Amino acid sequence: MKNGTLHMVGLSGGKDSTATLLLAIDRLGKENVRAVFADTGNEHPETYAYLDYLEHMLGIQVVRLRPDFSAEITNKRMFIARDRRAGRDKRGDKIRWSNKAKRRALAVLQSTGNPFLDLCMLKGRFPTNRARFCTEWLKRDVIVEYVDSVVQDEGRTVVVWQGVRRNESDKRKHAKKIERVAKGYYNFRPLVDWTIEDVFRCIADHGLSANPLYQMLGRVGCTPCIYATKGDVRLLAGSNPEVMDRVRNWEGQVGQASKKGFAAFFQGKELAGTKPGEVSDLVFWERHQIDGILKWAAKEGPFLREDWGRAADDGPSQGAGPRCGSEMGLCE
Ligand code: SF4
Repeated sequence: MKNGTLHMVGLSGGKDSTATLLLAIDRLGKENVRAVFADTGNEHPETYAYLDYLEHMLGIQVVRLRPDFSAEITNKRMFIARDRRAGRDKRGDKIRWSNKAKRRALAVLQSTGNPFLDLCMLKGRFPTNRARFCTEWLKRDVIVEYVDSVVQDEGRTVVVWQGVRRNESDKRKHAKKIERVAKGYYNFRPLVDWTIEDVFRCIADHGLSANPLYQMLGRVGCTPCIYATKGDVRLLAGSNPEVMDRVRNWEGQVGQASKKGFAAFFQGKELAGTKPGEVSDLVFWERHQIDGILKWAAKEGPFLREDWGRAADDGPSQGAGPRCGSEMGLCE
């Protein structure tokens, strides 16, 4: 092996990856550990501040990775401009982009440098539970490509330290402590048997604070996340109204870049009686775009289980519903 083994920690700014980083530094020394953060462009400002704090307190530099979709966007522009397909879809609409939709999309479909926004414009939609492309394109692939470049270009073995705990979820209850992913690429999960209390204790024992987002929103990760609960939306609308303004702008841009002309960040949260096809398209989008969601989330009244995919309106991200699910340091 040309340059020895690289020990890398996929850092999200959350508690588990922070504790993992501290363990790695304790065991190997900070000069032998590389912390890597995949920036979705949809992070809470507190998370960026927390990375700066860790760098300052630990005397390290966090490698920040941002996926770049400009080449894919250029290809999509060519595809839209040249689209002459024949035929109709299941709803009877023409498959090809109309000239009006082409003009509208081409006016806005440019790389902005924000990975989350660019990916959604590229797809012409926001991610949903059924089409959760965000985790894969914004985190998993970014880290895997980075590891691959170190293995191939630098000829090193890479051990990725992951802050995965078996008692986090059913999906992770059989997580292995060590796993060979490919030649020269291993995952190591030193926290598999830890409890949440162990994690916070480890951070405190090192004289550090956890990300303040745990106090503010109860979780760290995309803000907002497509899995935000009704409680999350309420809380965020009160504490960070600028986030909702950003979502409103993004809905406008992604909608313009899409064939149908509309997009909703929380489209997967089907409000009662407003599944596609049950109401007119205009009513559907009005109810699901951010202002409709904010109105709905502000309303008191019984929680509708099926609206949000969680067991109850149980406050910030404590429910048993779907989660991001990335092991690469995404949301915790
Ligand atoms: S935190 Fe939520 S929005 Fe962000 S990548 Fe994960 S599922 Fe997608």
